Amino acid sequence: MDVRNPRTGQRHSRIDATASGDLVVFCQELKKAQPAWSARSWEERVAVLETWVAAVSTDADVLDALSVDTGRHRLAAGEISGVSFALSQWARFAAEVFADQSSRRLVADPNVTYTTSLFSYPLVGVISPWNFPLLLSLLDSLAALVAGSAVVVKPSEITPRFVAPLQKLIDASPELGPVFRFVIGDGRIGEELIKNVDTVCFTGSVTTGKKVAAAAAVNMIPAHLELGGKDPVIVLASADVQKAAVSILRASVQATGQACQSLERVYVARSIYPEFIKALINEAERVELNAKDIRHGHLGPIIMEAQATIIAGQVDAAVEAGAKKLTGGTVENHNGGLWIRPTVLVDVTHDMDIIKEETFGPVLPVIAFDTPEQAIAFANDSDFGLSAAVFGEEAEATAVGVQINAGAISINDGGLTAIAFEAEKDSYGLSGLGRSRMGTSGLKRFLRKKAILTRHAGGAGIDSLREHRD
Ligand code: NAD
Repeated sequence: MDVRNPRTGQRHSRIDATASGDLVVFCQELKKAQPAWSARSWEERVAVLETWVAAVSTDADVLDALSVDTGRHRLAAGEISGVSFALSQWARFAAEVFADQSSRRLVADPNVTYTTSLFSYPLVGVISPWNFPLLLSLLDSLAALVAGSAVVVKPSEITPRFVAPLQKLIDASPELGPVFRFVIGDGRIGEELIKNVDTVCFTGSVTTGKKVAAAAAVNMIPAHLELGGKDPVIVLASADVQKAAVSILRASVQATGQACQSLERVYVARSIYPEFIKALINEAERVELNAKDIRHGHLGPIIMEAQATIIAGQVDAAVEAGAKKLTGGTVENHNGGLWIRPTVLVDVTHDMDIIKEETFGPVLPVIAFDTPEQAIAFANDSDFGLSAAVFGEEAEATAVGVQINAGAISINDGGLTAIAFEAEKDSYGLSGLGRSRMGTSGLKRFLRKKAILTRHAGGAGIDSLREHRD
C-alpha cells in the first residue's frame, strides 16, 4: 500500500498488506495458542502485558512512526501513555470480574447449587480507525488479552506505520507473540478478519459499522461497535460564559476535531449569546497550527485527505445556505499537508449537514435557544447519541443533561468521557451497538458465562409430570 504523510501530502511509505491467506493462517495459529494463554491466571497475563507495555512506552520507533502517521507529537505521546493507564485499569477491573466464582444455592431448589465460570472467547478481532491509531487499536485488545482471549488487530490503512515497531515488540515477548498479532490492509482484510474470529470490536464510521454488524450477524458472532457522533453542547443562561467558551473550544477542536467525542453542535441561551460568541472567537483565534513545527502549536493536520473535502464541503454548503463564518473555515495547504483553524459558524439552521452529519473537524456551528426545553429538543434532533455536554448551574445543568439521548453527558466541561475509564456508558442511536467499552463491562464483553448446576439431594421422577386429577 502507498501511505500518505499528513504533514507533506506525499505518498512515500510503501507498506506490505497482509495476504488474505496469511490472515487465515494467523487466525488458526492464534486460536491454537489461546488455551495456554487463558490457562494462566489473570494476574500472570497482566504481568506479561505490563512488561510489554513498558517496552512500548520507551520505544522511540513506535513514537516516531505514530507521529508520522498522525502528524502530531504531543497526542502521539499521549496515546502511548494512555495505553499504560488503560492496562492499569483493566487489571483493576479484572480483580473484580474474576473475584467471585463461588457456588450458591438455587432459589427454586436449595438442593441444587450452581457456579458460574467465565470462559474467554478464543479469538477477538479488533478493527480500528485512523484518528487515534495506536490507542484505539490497543484499548479493546488489552481488555481481551487480560480476559484470556487471543487478539488479531486490523488498524486503519490510513495510519499503519506504527504497526511494524509495535509488532516487533510483540514478537519479542515469548508469552504474547503467539496470542497477539496485527494485520495490515484496507476494508477487504477487515471483512476477511470477521470471518475468522469469535467476536469483533469495531471502532469507526457508521457506514462501515453497519457492514461490520451485518457480517458479524452472518457469522453469528457478537459485534461491539463504537461509531461516530455529532455531540451537542448546551450553554444555559446560568453558565459561567468565559469558562464555558474556553472548555467548549478545547473540547471541540482537540485533535483538530478528529475525535469521536468532540463537540460539533453548540446551543446557547439567547440572553448570553453575544457574550458567548465574543469569548468563543477570542479563544479560537489564540489557536496555532503545528504546520511549521510538529513540536509547536495546538492543532495537527487533517490526517485523512478525504476528510478535508468533507469538512470544506459541509462548511461551504452551510455558508451557501445562509450561515456566516466568524473565524476560520478554510482548509489551508502548508507544504502539501492540510490544516484547518477553529471555525465558528452562526446563522445556522437545523436542516444543514453541518448540524446533521458528523464533521470530524474543528467546526463549531452555534445556534441560540429561548428555553432549556428547546435546547434539549435541538440536542435530541439527531441520528447520533454518543455523548454531550451541558454548562450551567450544576443542578440545572444536570437536570437538562439527563434528558439528552446520549451515553455520556459532561457537566461543566466537554469530552470528559475521554478520561472516564471507569464510567460505563452505552451508545444511543447510530453511535454504536453492544455493551459499554468502559468499566468492568468492557472486560466482561470477552467472557462467556458457563453455569455448572449440581444436584446434592432430592430430584424428581416421572410422577412429577402426572396431571393432577389422575
Ligand atoms: P472507517 O469506518 O472508514 O474505517 C474504520 C476501519 O474499518 C478501518 O480499519 C477500515 O479499514 C475498516 N473497514 C473498512 N471497510 C470495512 C469492512 N467492510 N469490513 C471491515 N472493516 C472495514 O472509519 P475511519 O474513517 O477510520 O474513522 C473515523 C470514524 O470513527 C468516525 O466516524 C469517528 O467518529 C469514529 N470513531 C468512533 C469512536 C468511538 O469510540 N465511538 C472513536 C474514534 C473514532
